[in-house]
Amino acid sequence: MSDSLPGFKLQFASDNTAGVCPEALEAFNTANAGFASPYGNDESTAQVCDLLREVFEREELEVFFAFNGTAANSLALASMCQPYQSVICTDAAHVETDECGAPEFFSNGSKLLTAPHHQGKLTAASVDALVKRRTDIHYPRPKAVTITQSTEIGTLYHKGEIAGISQVCRANGLNLHMDGARFANAVASLKCSPADITWRSGVDVLCFGGTKMGLPVGEAILFFNRDQAEDFAYRCKQAGQLASKMRYLSSPWLAMLQQDNWLKHAGHANRMAHLLHDRIADLPGAEMLYPTEANAVLVNLPDAAVHAMHERGWTFYTFIGGSARFMCSWATTEAAIDALVADLASVLQRQA
Ligand SMILES: *Cc1c(COP(=O)(O)O)cnc(C)c1O
Repeated sequence: MSDSLPGFKLQFASDNTAGVCPEALEAFNTANAGFASPYGNDESTAQVCDLLREVFEREELEVFFAFNGTAANSLALASMCQPYQSVICTDAAHVETDECGAPEFFSNGSKLLTAPHHQGKLTAASVDALVKRRTDIHYPRPKAVTITQSTEIGTLYHKGEIAGISQVCRANGLNLHMDGARFANAVASLKCSPADITWRSGVDVLCFGGTKMGLPVGEAILFFNRDQAEDFAYRCKQAGQLASKMRYLSSPWLAMLQQDNWLKHAGHANRMAHLLHDRIADLPGAEMLYPTEANAVLVNLPDAAVHAMHERGWTFYTFIGGSARFMCSWATTEAAIDALVADLASVLQRQA
């Protein structure tokens, strides 16, 4: 039975509880043949950078790799503003709630300014309000905006919303950063070209998540404008983010981007989340909080039901969006969803 898999009941806690997808694992092993130049001067790193330029239809794209999303976001944001300036994000943003102050640390003090999220998102109006709120010398002048695609609660920014935010950015001299820890899920769901929801909508830098889409480790930092990438390599090195055996980070990326494997796996995760959303929505006592647009399902459950599910061994977080969050991944199966929903139905029935 599949529920004998190690960690079976951990799988909905996050998409990073899943392992490495087969294509990435094979590439990892293939990279192990023979010798290669270190620090990104190898063949597969060059190839993946070229492939990213193709995927994003942007010849001047500059690509860097970091070990995790916290480093990628923090270093990217640090490159966009001075210590006395600030970064606008939502109050639910990973940079605000889950990076232990790393953006402030790596930027030497740039303050995060938060706006309440609307379905997980910033709006053009909320950015504009934070920019205009104060203009005196005592206020840390906004210099960057960061948006998360797909959002922390599993919703999506549509192209027009990004373009609207970017318009406010441009009018006020702000840089636009995208935390794409789940960028693959966004592209798979919106069925758009990656360029359309990034640089063509005014995004300057994208932190493109690899880990959650099925890589062993590693996020790509994409600068759409070459000028802004100046000296970024030094910033990565100083922060301890330059991989010496870079080929082990880059080869799995290559396998992921070839034959659209990234979209295949992200599409699967999204489909599983939609299925899970619909199955939970049918249960009396479960209140769905947000539309499932990517690979997350957020649901309000009675405290006793949360407790009972944890007693049965299911792990999931309740601190994100103030509710129970279930994430699906490339590895989620319908059998796993059956098992989760059966237990949830049973504990909710006991409540009734
Ligand atoms: C997971 C995640 C990250 C990256 O987190 P790390 O643990 O540092 O790799 C960044 N942003 C969002 C929205 C995430 O969910």
